[in-house]
Amino acid sequence: MRLAGKVALVTGGDQGIGRAIVLRLGQEGADVGFSYHSHQPQAMEVLSCVEALGRKGFVSQADVGDVQQARALVQAMVERFGQLDILVNNAGMEKRAPFWEVDEADYDAVLAVNLKGAFFTTQAVVRHLIQTGRPGKIINISSVHEELPFPNFAPYCLSKGGVRMLTRDLAVELAPFHITVNAIAPGAIATAINSSLLRDNEKFSALLKNIPLGRMGTPEEVAAAVTFLASADSDYITGTTVFVDGGLMRNYHEQ
Ligand code: BGC
Repeated sequence: MRLAGKVALVTGGDQGIGRAIVLRLGQEGADVGFSYHSHQPQAMEVLSCVEALGRKGFVSQADVGDVQQARALVQAMVERFGQLDILVNNAGMEKRAPFWEVDEADYDAVLAVNLKGAFFTTQAVVRHLIQTGRPGKIINISSVHEELPFPNFAPYCLSKGGVRMLTRDLAVELAPFHITVNAIAPGAIATAINSSLLRDNEKFSALLKNIPLGRMGTPEEVAAAVTFLASADSDYITGTTVFVDGGLMRNYHEQ
């Protein structure tokens, strides 16, 4: 177990990649708290899995795109566990629309959760770490689209490009406090965020042709990389993005 005695917070831990991260961090010995936005039954199921591992768990409903709620989430974690060592900014969303049809509400929603949420949740955790003089690990779940264009998903691309720069900037600013900041860039992972793609045979087989390893990734494969970045094995790594994409980054063509 690589994370015994550590406490982790994962945003958006009720489903998909976030759920796999919560469970894997628990398997590695960490006590784990997580937020969910709207799927309460799933969140309760994840909480019971964490507790079944013999770990302490915590769950809270929160919209991390709302700064007050992000701060309250971190405050509740500190009250529950007395410490916080690892933050995984996982909560995210995407909305498909041609650029010329994107409306302000969708733009704001995507940027709020994906970028503003990561910013202010991290800020609240960093304040706690600095006040208590503890080292920390910040892990941002980005995307291959922090770098690759993704036509019809302009706000999503902007948000992930912002996450990339947030990762690089904070890595430098927080290094004196022994807080490392890294990102994971998943490619095509089989989760609910991709459900319409998974139902569209033509698009799906075109996507598979772009993936050198010839398949979609699993949430567990993303969680494995998160575990590495959360553990002491990565103590000398900061400001970087680890791509978990089956080689997609090197071979992507928009259909
Ligand atoms: C998006 C998916 C997309 C994948 C590969 C991810 O960031 O959330 O919708 O299939 O990138 O393009």
